[in-house]
Amino acid sequence: MKETIIEMEKYAKEKNVPIIEKESIKFIMKFIKLNNIQTILEIGTAIGYSGILMTSAAPDVQLTTIERDEKRYMEAIKNVKKCGLEHQIEVVFQDALEVSLGERSFDMIFIDAAKGQYTKFFEKFSHYLKPNGVIITDNIHFHGLVGNRTKDMSKNLNSLVSKIEDYIEYLKTNKEFTTKFYDIGDGLSVSYKNDEKR
Ligand code: SAH
Ligand code: MG
Repeated sequence: MKETIIEMEKYAKEKNVPIIEKESIKFIMKFIKLNNIQTILEIGTAIGYSGILMTSAAPDVQLTTIERDEKRYMEAIKNVKKCGLEHQIEVVFQDALEVSLGERSFDMIFIDAAKGQYTKFFEKFSHYLKPNGVIITDNIHFHGLVGNRTKDMSKNLNSLVSKIEDYIEYLKTNKEFTTKFYDIGDGLSVSYKNDEKR
């Protein structure tokens, strides 16, 4: 397991796969343990790095994770097997915006896919959250660019950053969720569903 994790870090570096920062995954693993999280939905598997670590944060964690890129999906399947976690991790090869998960619901949802679609992911997948569930989002700072846009930025980059800024505003004004923002790694947000019993 440890060895596979190190191999994955190396692979990600070599092939430019944007895996989560160490500090951020440590925070999330602690969160899973402290809050007794048992079912997790991840949007954006990449090669399975964050998924494998989240699943191993506590005993009996069940993860469903969605990836639309075939090469990364295959790589994730391989890594899950190497870690012997195939009974706890289900990797779904599909575009998350097209997926249907039926009646299933989760204690925690981790959003870490296309940054321009964060609000869409949140709106769609919040319906799959259990009462008192929580949604964690990665890269809320987007490499320090959020709140720091410059004139020489490309149009694409500019639009991406502005979409993340819109997402932050969306979270701040969302009446159904209370969101905390953390300066950890590339920025994390933790959105708690406002249910009566807590
Ligand atoms: N969570 C991973 C990193 C994910 S990188 C980790 O920290 O280890 C983001 C991934 O989301 C990419 O592999 C990309 O292919 C995938 N992705 C982006 N948009 C998606 C979508 N709409 N549906 C499914 N996967 C998507
Ligand atoms: Mg990320």
